[in-house]
Amino acid sequence: MSGTSPLAELYQQISLCQDCELAKYRNKVVPGEGAEDAEIMFIGEAPGFYEDQQGRPFVGSAGHFLDELLNSIGLERSKVYICNVIKCRPPGNRDPLPKEIKACQKWLDRQIEIINPKLIVTLGRYSMARFFPKESISKVHGTWRQVGNRICFAMYHPAAALHQQKLRETLQADMLKIPLALDEARKLASAIQEAQQVGRGMKEEPRQLSML
Ligand code: URA
Repeated sequence: MSGTSPLAELYQQISLCQDCELAKYRNKVVPGEGAEDAEIMFIGEAPGFYEDQQGRPFVGSAGHFLDELLNSIGLERSKVYICNVIKCRPPGNRDPLPKEIKACQKWLDRQIEIINPKLIVTLGRYSMARFFPKESISKVHGTWRQVGNRICFAMYHPAAALHQQKLRETLQADMLKIPLALDEARKLASAIQEAQQVGRGMKEEPRQLSML
């Protein structure tokens, strides 16, 4: 038995990544953290200074606000999964470039595949762009939609609210909708599972009959 989980293996691969310029500047890669079987995955933008120092997502002031938001609906970090669109800090905390997002996409794809969350919560414009293409965050924040086999819920980035009281209140109000979005996400997941079982049953039946 190798004893290595798919997520640990993925972290190992990400830590060796040299697929864009950001690898040159990073102190530590920040793959993500949380429960491998989390129902909810939060996706932010990119690591900042403290994240780059510690190799953990959302550990600076935006992270403290995220913790507060999670606590407001009775969630702890260890029960959810938290990661970013890109895994290395852009110098000076500049916005990620399209080529950096593209180079990093495979890692986020694999994380989604492994965690298989029922609900994805996008934090800010960069993660929103992937699941709510061509939308504006001022319009879609606080709403959810089905994307593929799961529900995606859009929120502003917690850092945007640090100096704007109004946005802080918006984020707090949007967070309170997550339990409802999660209910929807659970219903969708069970419906999909049921449909798959029915599909499988239909395929298996002739085989069972032929064994009689
Ligand atoms: N902002 C992000 O988008 N991600 C982090 O991990 C920290 C700050």
